[in-house]
Amino acid sequence: MSSNKLTLAQVSWTNEAVPKSQQFDDFYFSTDGGMAEVEHTFILPNNLAERFASLGEQATFRIAETGFGSGLNFLMATELWLTTASETAQLHFISFEKYPLHLDDLIKAHQALPGLVDVAKALQENYPFLLPGWHDVWLFEKRVRLTLWFGDVLKGLPECDGSDSAKVDAWFLDGFAPVKNPDMWQPALYQQMARLSHLNSTFATFTAAGDVRRGLEKTGFEVNKSSGFGKKREICSGKLVHQRPYSLKNPWFSRPQDVYSQPGKAIVIGAGLAGGAVVNQLAQAGWSVEFLEEQDEIATQASGNLAGAVHPLITADWNLRSQWYLQGFEATLRAVLPWLAESQTDSAGLLGDLSGLVQLAVTETSAKRVAEAIERVGLPEQFAQLVTQSQASEMIGAQASASGVFFPQGGWLYPKAVIERCLQYDNVTLFTGQKVLDIQQQENQQQSRAVWQVITQQQTFYADIVVVATGSLDQNLNHKLGLPIRPVKGQVSHISAEQQTVPLKMAVTHEGYSAPCGHARAVSGATFEAPDMSEFLSLTSHQANLEITRNALPDWLDVQAESLTGRVAFRPTTPDHLPIIGAVADNDWMQKAYLSQSHTHAVYRYEKQRYQPGLYVSNGHGPRGLMSVFLAAETLLADIMGRALPQPLSLYHASHPARFAIRRWRSGEQKSDK
Ligand code: SAM
Repeated sequence: MSSNKLTLAQVSWTNEAVPKSQQFDDFYFSTDGGMAEVEHTFILPNNLAERFASLGEQATFRIAETGFGSGLNFLMATELWLTTASETAQLHFISFEKYPLHLDDLIKAHQALPGLVDVAKALQENYPFLLPGWHDVWLFEKRVRLTLWFGDVLKGLPECDGSDSAKVDAWFLDGFAPVKNPDMWQPALYQQMARLSHLNSTFATFTAAGDVRRGLEKTGFEVNKSSGFGKKREICSGKLVHQRPYSLKNPWFSRPQDVYSQPGKAIVIGAGLAGGAVVNQLAQAGWSVEFLEEQDEIATQASGNLAGAVHPLITADWNLRSQWYLQGFEATLRAVLPWLAESQTDSAGLLGDLSGLVQLAVTETSAKRVAEAIERVGLPEQFAQLVTQSQASEMIGAQASASGVFFPQGGWLYPKAVIERCLQYDNVTLFTGQKVLDIQQQENQQQSRAVWQVITQQQTFYADIVVVATGSLDQNLNHKLGLPIRPVKGQVSHISAEQQTVPLKMAVTHEGYSAPCGHARAVSGATFEAPDMSEFLSLTSHQANLEITRNALPDWLDVQAESLTGRVAFRPTTPDHLPIIGAVADNDWMQKAYLSQSHTHAVYRYEKQRYQPGLYVSNGHGPRGLMSVFLAAETLLADIMGRALPQPLSLYHASHPARFAIRRWRSGEQKSDK
């Protein structure tokens, strides 16, 4: 996965506002008419107009492009899609860009394209953070999904899922002429293209260079030459005609084979944020969902806190967790920003506020961490800005004890209101007071497919699939599912208007967090009390919360610990501090196929993982649920319905339920049974 600092495109301009790359000394599109060139070079040879128009109502058509540049190819394909394809079908456009344009340059480049005003505006308004890696953007009421990989295409392509449901239908091989950009036109490019193509996937490119043609032919593509646009003599296009089997690098994390292409009946267990986000995804996709909760109301654990902080996770080396939580943060924004826009007209207005959060560098380590992260990946200003102590104080509304980082799209959310919003569909029914005693699978003779039974103290529920999102307290169930979840107690302190010297203007993180939570109240905390399972509020915990808060915001509070109220909850944590998301493996199969063999043996390379069909989990979200549950729900829906993933493969593997068993085995810890 990419974690190197991005270099932005260095651009100069012709008089007709055509951008030229300084890095490659070449134009982004033709000075003789960019739109006509794209039509001639990419759209027509891939036969897109006809293919788009003949697609079924629920179809997805996937285009992958090397070199996003100004996005002209994307804009042209999108415009064509919106005018020819069914309104319920989806265009998935994946593009890779090593040197992204700054937003100002992107906007300037679009001024030369008057025929594409609406689509260009949609792209400009949703252009992702200029940070390395994968970014998903949904446009035009989900008719178009753009996946932008910022980084080298040769690093990005291996991160794409090659399973049948995620294959590319058409390739746009852009990326400057091979003589000017030899590093990109490598055999690895053609090999990855072949891996990600199905028979009849087409490609088109503006070059007819011999090496490119031979490289494509060698990996199974048929290549045809035709006349080029303008001054260009020849271009080429073609399709994949020979497909080879590929061995799998991580077969134990392969995508589930049992997929439900049509929505059916689902049971989701556990009415916290993790479950709520899954219900929301399933309901939107047309599933009929029964949502079961043991307690008499939703959000009784950490999801019941009055406010949760929302912000990305910055680590010094921008490690896998930072990369995972960047994706998670973006998924949360995708889900919640439209709701916040709606709720501005709602007088309760309790959903939260994502118009900024300040992270104070109250310890030396936290300051160092940010400095190193900037060195490593840079922090684009739409994402994060360094602020001095006085700027931080001004933003927060109370004296801050340190400088910090401002996240313009961070903030706080009231998790219970988020869950309630997740459930607002006619095809969702909530059942409270249903303690689950057992989950069993039964063969359904008529459908030759398993049906799930969920047995509670009161009744038995039936469904095609079950998603378990029960957090940390039902350790029997977690054990049965093989989930190494540990409950960690946390106490937050509630602060009334009178106990604050000034109201907080925005959420703050420090050694813990302090956030406004509506009606002039605030919340501050939280403690981490691992072995303690008592549910009582403690004075010591309030004192600890006051201490970290005063350390960060010395003048903000006027209160003694004795007069504080608060709340205790248990967060489900995992050994590697990443959540557990996905289909539950068939343990007997896993034992037979992998764990009982030597981990250095190669025979299993073609053996995909087998799962218990229709059984999934979303758990272990720890203290960062607001930054992980929406990505988890998108990932689960992709696994359930056999769709392309919302994240790169390395991050999908990082939160896979089988990872703990596989890690033990690969480190030689797991003893072979045979
Ligand atoms: N398709 C673009 C458009 O519609 O504006 C034009 C693309 S421009 C001709 C080529 C793009 O490929 C440049 O933006 C360049 O930075 C990008 N590029 C070159 N080498 C790359 C690589 N190895 N990985 C990813 N992108 C690359």
